Amino acid sequence: MNSINLAVELVNVSKLYPGTPSRKTLAVDSLNLEIKTGEFFSLLGPSGCGKTTTLRMIAGFEIPSSGEIYIHKQAMNHHPPFHRPVNTVFQNYALFPHLTVSQNIAFGLEMENIPRPDIRQRVSEVLELVQLVDLQNRYPRQLSGGQQQRVALARALVKQPKVLLFDEPLGALDLKLRKEMQLELKQMQKRLGITFIYVTHDQEEALTMSDRIGVMNQGQLLQVGTPVEIYEYPKTRFVADFIGESNIFTGRVTQSQKRKINLLVDEQLSVSMVSQTEVFSGQLLTIVIRPEKASLVFRENKSHNHWQGIIEEAIYLGTDTRYRVKLTPNTSMIIRQQNLQRDQTQQYAIGETVNIFVSPENISFLPE
Ligand code: ATP
Repeated sequence: MNSINLAVELVNVSKLYPGTPSRKTLAVDSLNLEIKTGEFFSLLGPSGCGKTTTLRMIAGFEIPSSGEIYIHKQAMNHHPPFHRPVNTVFQNYALFPHLTVSQNIAFGLEMENIPRPDIRQRVSEVLELVQLVDLQNRYPRQLSGGQQQRVALARALVKQPKVLLFDEPLGALDLKLRKEMQLELKQMQKRLGITFIYVTHDQEEALTMSDRIGVMNQGQLLQVGTPVEIYEYPKTRFVADFIGESNIFTGRVTQSQKRKINLLVDEQLSVSMVSQTEVFSGQLLTIVIRPEKASLVFRENKSHNHWQGIIEEAIYLGTDTRYRVKLTPNTSMIIRQQNLQRDQTQQYAIGETVNIFVSPENISFLPE
């Protein structure tokens, strides 16, 4: 990666909070991360994995226990938050209830003693950008959650930061509004070209919005990649399980020829797949099959990756139906079938025998 284009760089950054005595309780553990200028980068992981702590260290609200943070190539460890070219948008908005929308947005600039005409100009530009011109004289209590969120965003944008940090900013909104705001934020980020670093535990949100995602667990960064790389080629069991749903099986390689391999799962299920790297006969492999990549087919077929199973569970989910199918006494597989026709929404009943097919190209394995 060309270091000239880096917006934020974390080099071996760790954080041990006082009162957490052992290495096992490191909130952030030896993080190395490069975020490019103009990128929409998400930190994704379950509650307590250390994503907020990482964001707070970039913002300057927490000091790393070890390691260095650079923003636009400048070492930041000893810079207080207000001397860093970043701004943070929090989930709880933190708006002043006694100030109007315009006054809330202008507040930060007034603290910096910027001349009044300049403040007016910048506030009106930002009001336009977040589409709040008509609501500029209202107080926060007179706004919806989505509108309050926009004020919080405007207040951060008006300071013209090079990097904007977001800590679960849409967490308090209902699902429909959250989806609308996700698209709005992404469009705005592309238009402005500001680097966004976005913390979320919502995998769908991260996949929708990000140029790249960093997946964290227990203080460690497990994988960094584009949404497609993270979803289609997970590198660890945790990433495969946390992002979307996965069927994860372990099998022994029975044949390996020119990247085409066969393996035996549960001593009964023969699986063919195409490998990106060389593997050897006898090797144990952990494979991942996404539920939507498997299909229920009408006819029995004896060729590669056609298996028979019994429906154990069927859940109607609107756009698709999620089936659990028993393949061997110890192995079941989750399969998602799109409901393309109204009269086919629940074709298969519990106890029914079904035929399944998964294309060898749609199976990946974990390099762990
Ligand atoms: P969430 O999504 O729940 O906010 P997170 O992934 O953002 O979680 P952090 O808030 O970074 O996680 O917390 C990481 C770990 O550090 C947790 O085990 C948490 O309990 C601990 N922690 C966070 N802040 C402090 C603090 N001020 N003092 C001591 N421990 C802390």
